[in-house]
Amino acid sequence: MQEKMLTNILNLPAYVVLEVAQDEHDYHIRAETKQAPRVCAYCGSDNIIGSGRRENLVKDLPMHGKPVGIYVNLRRMKCHSCAKTFSETLPDVDNKRGMTNRLVEWVCKQAVRRTFTSIANEVGISEASVRTMFKDYVAGLESKIKFETPQWLGMDEIYLIKPRGVIANVQNNTIVDLLVNRNKETIIHYLSNLKGKETIQYVMMDMWKPYREACQQVIPQAKIIIDKFHVVRMANNALESVRKSLRESLSAKERRSLMHDRFILLKREHDLTEQEAFLLSGWTLNYPLLAQAYRLKEGFYGIYDAPSKTEAMALYAAWKASIPKELISDYYELVRACDNWIPWIMNYFDHRITNAYTESLNNLIRATNRKGRGYSFEALRAKMLFAEDAFKKEKVKPKFNHRRQEERTFFMSRALMDCYEPPSQTTQIEKNYGVDINKLIELLEAERI
Ligand SMILES: [Zn+2]
Repeated sequence: MQEKMLTNILNLPAYVVLEVAQDEHDYHIRAETKQAPRVCAYCGSDNIIGSGRRENLVKDLPMHGKPVGIYVNLRRMKCHSCAKTFSETLPDVDNKRGMTNRLVEWVCKQAVRRTFTSIANEVGISEASVRTMFKDYVAGLESKIKFETPQWLGMDEIYLIKPRGVIANVQNNTIVDLLVNRNKETIIHYLSNLKGKETIQYVMMDMWKPYREACQQVIPQAKIIIDKFHVVRMANNALESVRKSLRESLSAKERRSLMHDRFILLKREHDLTEQEAFLLSGWTLNYPLLAQAYRLKEGFYGIYDAPSKTEAMALYAAWKASIPKELISDYYELVRACDNWIPWIMNYFDHRITNAYTESLNNLIRATNRKGRGYSFEALRAKMLFAEDAFKKEKVKPKFNHRRQEERTFFMSRALMDCYEPPSQTTQIEKNYGVDINKLIELLEAERI
């Protein structure tokens, strides 16, 4: 009766609990295995006898808010056939770590959701060992989960403690990796190890030189396209700097007349309500420089409406020439970026990519800004990249052997035919395109990961 109750405390059927004690901080449980080894660990002979005991500490899942240590009364055995001595192998225990397997699993799963320090304190181990376990866990997931290499690859920036590289599948609206930084070497290393990198057709990126240079070096066949969002955003920034310096030069009373100016100025002209358009026309009348800055912003957006690359190039040249002297410094960043990146910006006109992807990615960036605090990058990366509920999968039929299956069916005997099951879904290949960005945002917002 006593033994049964004590065994239940651990809920590890291979062990007998000998004693349970607790102090202010920990549980101390003495236990031993139910079954002594039957054969020699070296030669397999059954001619073995016990040769003393040794205490072996094994950490287990925390209980009632306290760390648990199991002091296993470990058997030493001696073999009469080969004369060697050995210790018994403990069931359900990760010997390398001195922890129960279930503790290792629990720590790894918790590490995706919580800080390493809080887990370390709860279990009574060091933060370093949580880190190591988590690293091994992620490596295990990484070798198990393989995403399809995107043919339209997206490269962008996401801020997780520091700026990181985000690698996306533009056609599928998924992310396929998060890179520790945006250095050229990191990108080269990533691309070089990417299976099927020769099949990448387009790379959509922001204007970040290391991305471009890495792609040109490792995947020269892929056409580089600068994401429209990153370019037009600079036109907004330019207008913003004009608006801010104007506001600084105004009296408090004059400033009050500029209600909601930021919102209205950054809006596209064709999206303005009647009232907004009325307000805007008043401002542009009073502040001619602001009017010019607004026209330049709208004009720049207009380049993207061009029907062809040639026309877009012409529009850009005309636009650049139209910048008045007074606004050159405000628009300097935009002009410089365009001049440095023009061939790749203009590639957009050969391969227009939908806004859906850019929008999803921007939403994700905002969501992680809110939710990412308190985690290590490794944990955030694993949390996002291995969020199984957000995987975008597709079952596809293999390209081969339809013909052969028919032939095989044809030549089968009647008896075989009766028990022959035609190839079903099991013969289909499952493709995993990565983590669906919109689903990932939902999971993050709902705190389900
Ligand atoms: Zn032996």
